[in-house]
Formats: sequence, C-alpha cells, structure tokens
Amino acid sequence: MTDAQTATQYVYRFGGGTAEGGTGDKNLLGGKGANLAEMASIGLPVPPGFTISTEMCTRFYAEGEAFPDSLTGEVADGVAHIEQVTGKRFGDVNDPLLVSVRSGARISMPGMMDTVLNLGLNDETVEGLARISEDERFAWDSYRRFIQMYSDVVMGLDHGLFEEALEIAKEDKGYFNDTEMSADDWKALVGQFKTIVADERGDAFPQDVHDQLWGAVAAVFKSWNVERARVYRRINDIPHDIGTAVNVQAMVFGNMGETSATGVAFTRDPSTGEHAYYGEYLINAQGEDVVAGIRTPQYLTKAAREAAGAKPLSLEEAMPDTFGELTAVFETLEQHYKDMQDIEFTVERGKLWMLQTRTGKRTAKAALKIAVDMAAEGLVDRKAAILRIDPMQLDQLLHPTLDPDAPRDVIARGLPASPGAASGTVCFDADTAERLAANGESVILVRVETSPEDIHGMHAATGILTARGGMTSHAAVVARGMGRPCVSGAGELRIDARARTLTVGGRTFDQDDVITIDGGNGQVMAGRVPTLQPELAGDFATLMEWADDLRGLKVRANAETPHDAKTAREFGAEGIGLCRTEHMFFDAGRISAVRQMILAQNEEGRRAALAKLLPEQRSDFAAIFGEMAGLPVTIRLLDPPLHEFLPREEAEFVGLAQELDVSVDMLKRRADDLHEFNPMLGHRGCRLGITYPEIYEMQARAIFEAACDVEASSGAAPLPEVMIPLVGTRRELEITREIVDRVAKEVFAEKGREIAYLVGTMIELPRAALMAGEIAEVGEFFSFGTNDLTQTALGVSRDDASRFLGDYVEKGIYARDPFVSLDVAGVGQLIEIAVERGRESRPGIKLGICGEHGGDPASIAFCAKVGLDYVSASPYRVPIARLAAAQAALAS
Ligand code: PEP
Ligand code: MG
Repeated sequence: MTDAQTATQYVYRFGGGTAEGGTGDKNLLGGKGANLAEMASIGLPVPPGFTISTEMCTRFYAEGEAFPDSLTGEVADGVAHIEQVTGKRFGDVNDPLLVSVRSGARISMPGMMDTVLNLGLNDETVEGLARISEDERFAWDSYRRFIQMYSDVVMGLDHGLFEEALEIAKEDKGYFNDTEMSADDWKALVGQFKTIVADERGDAFPQDVHDQLWGAVAAVFKSWNVERARVYRRINDIPHDIGTAVNVQAMVFGNMGETSATGVAFTRDPSTGEHAYYGEYLINAQGEDVVAGIRTPQYLTKAAREAAGAKPLSLEEAMPDTFGELTAVFETLEQHYKDMQDIEFTVERGKLWMLQTRTGKRTAKAALKIAVDMAAEGLVDRKAAILRIDPMQLDQLLHPTLDPDAPRDVIARGLPASPGAASGTVCFDADTAERLAANGESVILVRVETSPEDIHGMHAATGILTARGGMTSHAAVVARGMGRPCVSGAGELRIDARARTLTVGGRTFDQDDVITIDGGNGQVMAGRVPTLQPELAGDFATLMEWADDLRGLKVRANAETPHDAKTAREFGAEGIGLCRTEHMFFDAGRISAVRQMILAQNEEGRRAALAKLLPEQRSDFAAIFGEMAGLPVTIRLLDPPLHEFLPREEAEFVGLAQELDVSVDMLKRRADDLHEFNPMLGHRGCRLGITYPEIYEMQARAIFEAACDVEASSGAAPLPEVMIPLVGTRRELEITREIVDRVAKEVFAEKGREIAYLVGTMIELPRAALMAGEIAEVGEFFSFGTNDLTQTALGVSRDDASRFLGDYVEKGIYARDPFVSLDVAGVGQLIEIAVERGRESRPGIKLGICGEHGGDPASIAFCAKVGLDYVSASPYRVPIARLAAAQAALAS
C-alpha cells in the first residue's frame, strides 16, 4: 500500500517469512527496524511486526504533527500481517494480539525516546489474555504496566502517581516485593490506575485498541523532539532533522512464569573485548526490568557467574537448551554483521525470540581488542578493522589511571561499569554537576540510579557513581558510550539527594568532599587518589602500527615542555608542530623578568630583562631538541598580547613594584597604557617582533644556541623550524625573517658550527591566506593556525564564542562548533587557496596545521584531502590523529 499522491511507502513488514525492509536501510527504517528486517531475512526468530519509516517522521512534523490519510490503510495492513502470522487478532476478547510500539532512530539513542509495551489491553481483552495464558496474575500485571506506561508516554501523566499508588497498595498488604502481589491485588490496582487517569485527564483510559495504537505511534514520533533527546543529539553530534522510525511488533512475554525470561547480551565482552558471551537476564520478567536496574539481573554464563561469586543460576545453567540456541544466534549474527552485536532477547515459555540486535557499544579498550581479534580471525581485514574504531573514543585510553601503589581508602564497591578513574567533588544532581563543571570543577555525579534526564550532568561529570543498577543499567550504558568512568550498583551507599549527603560505613560525605572512583574495578574511595600516565601498548599499539602503514599525513604534537614532548613522542608524534614559547614565560621563576621587559621604558631596559630570559629559553629548547632528536621542532616566536603577562591582583602589583623598585602607581599607569580593547586583534604576533625586535632576537638566539649546544653534546643535529605568528603581509615576514637569519649567522659564527633550519609562518589571517603566493616567497613553511584563522574569518572572538555558539549549533547555523571542527565550507576555502597559491610560488613548501583542529578527525580528513604534509595535535591526541589520518587515507 502506498500514499496515492506521492507513491511513498511508509510501512514495511517483517517476520513470518517476510522482510520488506530487505537487508536493512537504516536511514529509512531506523537502526532497530533495519536490523529486525535483517534478522528476519536471515531466518532468525523475530516476532512479526512492521516499521513506520523515518520519512513518516519528517512528514509528521512537516504537517504540523499530523499523519497523512494514506497511513491508515498501511498501518491496517501492517496489523493484519501481525495477526496473520501470530493467529491472534488485535482487540480480540478471546485471544488478543498485544503489540509493542518502540522508537528506532538511524543512530541509536538508548533510552532517549519512548516505548509503549502491552498495547492492545483493555477491560475486556485482559480477561481473554488471562484465559489464554491461564495466568490471571500475569494478565492483570500486564494491564497495569500498560496503563502506567501509556499514561506516562502518551498522555503525559506523572508516572510517580502510579508508582505511589503501587507503593501504598504494597504497604497496605505488608508486601515488600512486586512479586507478592496477587491477581486480585493487580486487578484492584488497575481500578485505581484508571481512577488516577480519569481524575487527572477528566477522561477515561482509552479502551479502543486502535485509538491506543495511533496514540502511541504519535507519541513515539513526538518523543524525537523531547528535551532529553535533543540534548543527547547535541552531545553526540546527531543531526536533529533525520527523525526516528516507529516499530510496532507482536509482544512476546518473558514474564509468563518460570520457563520465561528476558535478557540482554553482547556477543563479546563490551568492557574488555574478550571473545566471551556476556550478558544478563531475569527469569519471569519483562525487558525493562533488566535495564531499569530495579531487580539485580543474573549472569548469562556459568563462567561469569562463578567469577563474580554470585549464587543465582546463569542462563547457561537454568535453561541450557535456550542458551545453546542463543549462542548459535550470536555466531550467526557476528558472521552476518561482522561485528560485535548487542542483543535483546525474550524466552516465552521456552521459545526464544530475538527482539533487537545492533552494533554493540564498547569501551575503547574493547573496541581495539575486537578489531584486532576480528582481523586475526579473518572476519574483517585490517582496513575494516581500522575503519571500525572511532578515533575520538581512543581518548578513553589516553587518560591517567589510578596509581596502583598509592594508598586507597576504599569506602564501597560497585560494578566496574565503565573504565577509567576519576576524582571529584560529590554532586547529587545533574544541573549542579553541569554548573560546577562549567566553572572548571571536577565532579562525580552520585545518584541512586540515573535516568535519561540526567544526561547533561553525566556528560559534565568526570565520573558517575550509582547505588543501584547492573552492568547494562542506564548509567552503565550511557557512561560507556560517553567514555566517562562509572561505578554502578554500589549497594552499600545511602544517598540522600535532598540533604545532599552520601553515607557509607558510618561515614558521611557531602558536596564539598572529594571522592575517587575506579570504573575498572568498581572501587569507590574517599579523597583524591594519585594517577599514572597511560601507555600505548598491546592491541592499541598494534592497531596504531597498522594505521601508520596506511596514512599519508604525518602527525606532530603541540608541546612546549620537555615532559610534553616526551609524552608526545611516546604516543608516536613525528615532531613538534607548535611550541608556544610564551608558555615558558609563565613559569614562576621567569614571569618577573618577562614583566620587567614589558614594563621597561626603553630598549635598554628591555634588553636587560631579556638577558635574564635568554638562558632559561635556551635550556628549554635544548631539552626539547633532546627529546625530539632527529625530528623537526617548530618553535613559534612570541605571539600573545603583552597584557596577558601583567599582574591582575593588587597584591601582585605591590609585590612587583617592590621587586622592580618602582611605585605601584607607576606600574598601574604602564599597565593601563598597555590595555587594549581587542587584544586578539591588537599588538600581538609578529607585530611585537616588529616593534620590539630585541624580543625576537633573544628568542632566535636561544633557539640557535640551544641547537648548536645539543649538536655539540649529542652529535645529532636538531631540526629547528622558526615560526612567525600572525603574519598578514609579505613585508612582516621579511622583516622578522631578517632578524632570525641575522641572529642565526651571529650564533653560528660564535659557536663555529652551522645548523640547518627553516623559517616559516603561521597562516592565521584571511589576508595571509589570500596573499599566500607572496608570503611563500619569503617563508619556507606554512602552518595553519586555525584557531585564529577561524576567529578572524568568522569574525567570532574565540574567547567569547561560548556564550552563543551553543545556540548557533542548536539552530544548525554551524553543524559543529567551528573552533572544534573546522568550518570546511568557509575557513576550509581559505586553507585551500593558501595551499594552492603557496605551492605555486614555492613548490615543495612544507604545509601543516597546528590549531586545535589538528586533533579533530573530521578536520584531519579535510587536511588529508587538501594535501597538507602534517597535522599537529596536543600530545594526548596524537594517537587519535594517527588513526584519523589512516581513516582519511582509506576514505580517499
Ligand atoms: C592558532 O591560532 O590556531 C594557533 C595555533 O595559535 P594560538 O592558538 O596560540 O593563537
Ligand atoms: Mg594563533
């Protein structure tokens, strides 16, 4: 059936030997719908259903949240298909068909959108369900779950009202668990739930199953645009206009007694990547019971159960036949998808049903192991293995872990839900976490359990700790996806969110206290525990070697201390692309000489202060050359506006006045003189070298003296590249280059040796990009300073942008923050022009990028495309850049 006007098909059926979606077009059917169709097409047991496409979502919004008439017939056909396969009828009072209605976007957004289960129950069909299932209790429990979910999702009623009624009912009866509720108890509760609905809505709970269905379908489409879904998309760079599909599928029940069960599983361990089945299940339960973290799930395999020292039987032990069937499905799925799968299944009275499969989210460590293992198993080739890894995910492995030798004051233990260690102040709600994090504080978000409403706080936190929930709880899944360390299910914790206290073992922590969590082993510790630097080894190193074999771009690091240079080299940096010399000036022992230089009244005064800085800079450079032996080191001469070095606080002025033996007033006057309205466009960059040549002279001298000394002592010649910042005209580069060349000559004469060096410039002004042909006649290399180039091309101050850029991204004005990911359309053009004109006038000119974009995979892809020689990123981003560069090469 198709829309008569547009001939567009919106409904695609699957199950019972049908798979209209064929091999699964995710753009059309969403991830869940596409995979259901695909599973059906390879003969796996999927309950029959149909998918309403994402195109319908787009149309639904375009038409003011309304459906076209043609959809009615298509949905009716879909329902008829399910009826035909199951032999049940929708709304039948004797043997009713029940369906689930679930969202399913192209890119999975776990828990962000809505779901309705058990749809099709009403006052009459519930009786039919009781008879056919021979389980009255189950039927009434299903009905109350349905009312509760439908009221929340479709009618917007507060689910707390229903929870409260249930709690009171249990209290009245003296029950502790839901399992103690009898059929009559549920029946009575259904009556109360209906009263709540009538009171709150002034309208009875809908009894017509078709009305129920349309209500749920519309609600799921609408849930695409709820706040938490929007936030999730923003955080994960998912476009807002792709829409979700809706899947309507026959219900199967994991809560039909002791031969029924429901669970989630991964075909490999999503934390470690180990090739071992991994998962959790519950007997006599519905799917949401497993993920909601309300009942503690049981292990899938005997080995996992034994390793955890848990008592309740694993699925392998409790239902060995089903386990055998399930693991066979795992193998089929891995062979088919050639990747690790995350699966939801239900066993209804001994019969296994697959409810979902998708590519499993995994930690970075697991991602690497799975990629390397699958290549070894011959499931994928090396190229596919490389393309499989999200470069940004490596970030998780590039952060410190807890020092195993440091003392730990362990206060509790939970599950190692997401690896990595984090320390921070205790914080009890997501909004506060976000606020404190915005002020630069590290916080650990501590919750009984998290819900999708907490997503912004989880993102802002450095770590997440929950008292309840298993390895597949919301907290665990989301934290792993975000790469946040997480300890879940630390049951000993008593969290009082109102009083803002955390009590454990007789000790109480409030929001000023610092705790540490280790998501690798589940420990929770009082105070801050020291950390160790990460290492590049094992599967990580293997994959990096494969990446290096493929990439064309070289990868350098932005580093200005010997320590950073060493780290960068260990992570595979092939040189330094940007050494910001000013960072050395902030050192406690030097800042006063820098200030003396700035405040000096004349050249003589400046030279006196610079003389104090010379040996310091020289020794820094020597150490960096030593670390980077054999590799190029690009040193940028002084760039920032001078006011950045001046005191801000009164006490600092007083101290400096004493040190320099001048009056505080005089100092302040001088500071006022230096004040600029737009310092980023003011007296900075090469403009400093032009007005105060003695500064660049000193820096050039420090570089060449250090280079000569290092060569003399080690025998290896350093490869210095002297870089002039913020050049806009050829003449600026000529004047500053002349200083550098003159000093080089002087130093080489004094030292009696010569070192090969290059002089080049940053391209960080639009004029420089346009005039690159001329500038290249003077400079031997260009390094794109895309932080400033973005700022100057867009006319957006990099220091003030955060106030409004969030809105800009939200409104789609820029797809991503242009200071994070290069504005290829605009700034990218300037780069292309500069590359072309620069190469034309100096073939073989060395070209690199050293703005923050040098560590951003999408920007790296652009750099590869326009043919730069290298990218330069912060040391911890070097492996990310190596992988992204390989992926860029594979994509070309
Ligand atoms: C740049 O502008 O991109 C750059 C690398 O220099 P800085 O960030 O120091 O201005
Ligand atoms: Mg700059």
